[in-house]
This record gives sequence, structure tokens and C-alpha cells, in this order.
Amino acid sequence: MSPSTPDALLIDDVQLLSPGRPLQRGAALRIEGGRIAWTGPRAQAAPAARRLDGRGVLCLPGFVNTHNHTPLMIVRGMVEDLGFAPAYTPGIPQGHWLSDEETFLLARLGQMELLMAGCTTVVDYYRSPDALARAALETGLRAFIGGRVMDADSAALAEGRFERDAALGERTLRDGVDLIARWDGADGGRIRAVHAPHAPDTCSRGLLQEIARLAAADGRPVHTHLAQSPLEVDHVRARDGISPVQLLDDLGLLNPALFAAHGIFVDEADIARAGQAGLHLCHAPIGNATFGAFAPVLALRQAGVKVTLCTDTKSADMFETMRMAIVAARARAQAFVLDAATVFGWATAGGADALGLPDLGRLEAGCRADVVLLDPEAPNLLPVVDGVGIVVHAGSAANVRHVFRDGEHLVADGRPTRLDAQAVRREAQAVADRLWARARGG
Ligand SMILES: [Zn+2]
Repeated sequence: MSPSTPDALLIDDVQLLSPGRPLQRGAALRIEGGRIAWTGPRAQAAPAARRLDGRGVLCLPGFVNTHNHTPLMIVRGMVEDLGFAPAYTPGIPQGHWLSDEETFLLARLGQMELLMAGCTTVVDYYRSPDALARAALETGLRAFIGGRVMDADSAALAEGRFERDAALGERTLRDGVDLIARWDGADGGRIRAVHAPHAPDTCSRGLLQEIARLAAADGRPVHTHLAQSPLEVDHVRARDGISPVQLLDDLGLLNPALFAAHGIFVDEADIARAGQAGLHLCHAPIGNATFGAFAPVLALRQAGVKVTLCTDTKSADMFETMRMAIVAARARAQAFVLDAATVFGWATAGGADALGLPDLGRLEAGCRADVVLLDPEAPNLLPVVDGVGIVVHAGSAANVRHVFRDGEHLVADGRPTRLDAQAVRREAQAVADRLWARARGG
């Protein structure tokens, strides 16, 4: 064991739950220089400059949440009973009504919520990507940011019509390129930029081709929605004569750098193609089930697709998401499939590996110190037997008490340390009030 440095922190008396490993009771974990320097039995822990008493609590890696649009929580609690994805649903606030500043204020609330729910790494993409990156700089999340690129006219889309708006395509493509120049690698690499075409139906073939060209040249990942709705599948089949999965394959986008959200409306040939390509699925079981759909996740995985988890525009609760992934898979299979350990792996190390960060999502010496401590007094977290079962089947974002990202203590005793939480909440609600008044003709 190396001698302790002045910034060293010993998190003492915890039950360590790291994916793929048995629960370690009576353990301690030392953080130094933003990394986990040591884990082991607490009796063997060397003293450090600072100590946090874990009080026997469950200690997990920070969650990796691979698909979000934080400003879209403005429609949360309403859109679920009206339609599916907000862009396709009339009668609710639309993204193109938001100013950059309003996008920032909403993103800041969404990112604060993610952090307080134990997510330390997120992928966040939407229009005004600069505003999302500014929010990430402030909230302290490790963030992969994208600018939502599309050339389907937003107003027509909300009414179910596809009309090409070439100027929108050019502008959003430029925003995405500017984002990379301005933000990729910011704050010591904590903020990174990705390509983010919205979906195969809201991007013309030409626009997708342009993104494929950019991604092939710079090697950055491509995040998108894929096979999200029958509307998308029908539109692409009518326009291009093939399925959305086939279209991305034709354009050279179907490869391990692709992060496809949803993947619900796929046929056998699509599943085989996606598996062969080794793409990443961003599985959003809560959002999917809310509009009555279950993605064939296990068939996709069997074919070779790598599965990650995300909360998309719903609450930032990855506990609920892990649980719902199991429920959705069992409801679809009508069989006892999938287990807690597997979905816990998807939500932590699996997501980290997918994003190219194999030193994340695990509580092991040498890994980045993204660490979450749960509430030692929460009755729903008992009994602890193997640890992973109770966390997945009974845990909640409300149980998160402490969150560290790269060793920085971003949530302490349930409160964000960098942010004025009251102001963040108040300013976001004011934006929501104004936009909902407009949506209702006020
Ligand atoms: Zn989405």
C-alpha cells in the first residue's frame, strides 16, 4: 500500500458491491488523486487524511446512463398519457420553442437530478448542445454531449407529417461540428462530444450520409434513435424501401461505434444485422413500456448486440430502470429470464466499457473514483444477503446519499455540493410554466 496523500479519503465501513464480484462486507475504500487507490477489509485500511463513516452502508459504482435529453423533462408527467416521444406528440411544448438559456436551465435541473440519483456518467443530446455542455460544466457530471441533428420540420413532425427542412439540417449539423471544436475534451476530458443524428426518419438519407462521413473521419461515436416506432419504420420503408436498421447498414453507420436507443420494432433480419455489427443498444425499458412496447433485448444480445441502460426522458432512476429491464424482458418472454446481476452489470461496467472507459463502473483499485453510497437507514434496502438483489429489486434513486465523480464529492448527505439546488429547481419550473402556457394557447 502506498503512503497516503493529503487529498486521500478513506470511505470506511461499507458493503462494496462491484459488478461481477461477490459483496464485500466490512470493507473500506480509499480514494486518492481521483482514483480508487485501494479496497479491502476495513481492519487492514491505512488511515487517510480524511475519513467518511459509511455506517455499514451499500457502496456502488456510479451509474452509466447512456441516453438522455435532459431538457425534455419539461414534458415529463404529461407526455406519457398523450403520445410517445415528445417530438412526435402534438399539444406539448416543443424543443424548437426553447431559447439557448431556457435549454440550459432545463438541462441543469435534469443533470442535477441524474447526479442525485447516482448517475456519474451520462450521454445527453438535444438541440442547443452548447447549453447542455455548459450545464455539464456546472453540474460536474462526466458527460458525452451531442447536438441533435435532423432535417425534418419540427412543427410538421408534431402533427405526424414529414417535411424536409434543409436549413434545419444544415444548422443542426453545424451546431454538432461546432460543439466538437468547442467542447470535446473540456475540463480535463470530463466533457466529450459525440455525433447525434436524431433518427432514421427525421434525418434524410443525405444528412445521415454526411454524418457517416464525419464519423468515419473522426472516429467519434454516433448516438441515435433506431426502430423506435412503427411510424419510423413505415416512413423509412416508404422513403428508402428498406428498414431503418438496413438503411444505417447501407450508409456504413451500423458498427460498434453506433449507440442505438430503443431498437423495438426490428424483425429477425434486423436483429441478425445489428448483432453482426456489434452495435450498442441503449435500452430504455421504462420509456418503451410507457407506450406499450418491449424491445427484444435478449434476442439482440444473443445476436451480438451489447446492451447498456438509460432513463431517456423519464426520471433519472437507474434502480427503477434495472428493475424494469427485468420486468419487460420477462413480460415479453413470458418466462423467468434475466437477473439482477446482469442488469447491474449493464448499468455500471457494461455502460462504461461501451463508452470506451474500462476503468469506470467498478469498485476496484486503479479505477476512476465514481462511487455512490446509499442510505444506511433505508428500510427498503434490507435485508442485505447478496447485495445485488436488494439493490436491483428494491432500491431507489431516493436512497442515494453520497456521490463522488473522479473523487469529487458532488452529492453530500443527499445534497448537491456545487449547485444552489433551490435556484436550479425554481428557474427550471419558471421555464416550464411559460412553455406549458404557450402549449395550451396562453
Ligand atoms: Zn431519446
